[in-house]
Amino acid sequence: MEVQGPDGLAAFFIVCDHAGNLIPRALGSLGLSPEQLTRHIAWDIGAAGVARRLGAALGATTVWQRYSRLVIDCNRPLDAGDSIVRESERVRIPGNEELPAGAAESRAREIFHPYHDEIRRLLDRRQAAGRPTVLVALHSFTPLFLDVARPWHVGVLHNRDARLARPLLRALRDEGDLVVGDNEPYAASELTDYSIVHHGERRGLPHVELEIRQDLIADEGGQEAWADRFARLLPLAVQAMTQDPSPE
Ligand SMILES: [Zn+2]
Repeated sequence: MEVQGPDGLAAFFIVCDHAGNLIPRALGSLGLSPEQLTRHIAWDIGAAGVARRLGAALGATTVWQRYSRLVIDCNRPLDAGDSIVRESERVRIPGNEELPAGAAESRAREIFHPYHDEIRRLLDRRQAAGRPTVLVALHSFTPLFLDVARPWHVGVLHNRDARLARPLLRALRDEGDLVVGDNEPYAASELTDYSIVHHGERRGLPHVELEIRQDLIADEGGQEAWADRFARLLPLAVQAMTQDPSPE
């Protein structure tokens, strides 16, 4: 994992669970080609670039996972059936089929836990210092899923606490040039999401999970434009939230 600005002064705290496509050496390539390992099945294309720029623009602590979600998904509960996927969008992941005993636990120990433990440690430290925190989980989604085009430019995901999601959805719609998904292309839930559930909801921190369409942030210009946009809109959404703080 990598941490940028551990002492960031902003209330914003950014996590990027699918930022990287590294595979631990001991696992080889999981049986995939170099080309497959650069595709969206391995990571959230563009997300790390947006997270780094957004974190810098907001002065926020930013934590990202450098290992591929194909090794173990850092945004899934460990007991979810797709914590370690055997197939992703019609691509078989040979290295994840018939895992030897203890393999899932060792991936959790080496990759999942250190990442979430570090987030927990940083959040505990802020809490102990009485500092407010607004959690932003940043992801990107593929424009085509199983051959179906997705119309949204950006999605705002939330589960039980929509305090921040609501005003951010309004702010994104007010931009006028965006198709905005409300819990689209996915709905957040305790079965399919880990970070906002464990680090946001269960701590009572205002939070949001963002999904940006990958073709919009594939290059640096796009990453910069979206980082600028969220650096502008997130503080406005937080301001609106403080005027209407009910979770529903
Ligand atoms: Zn993701």
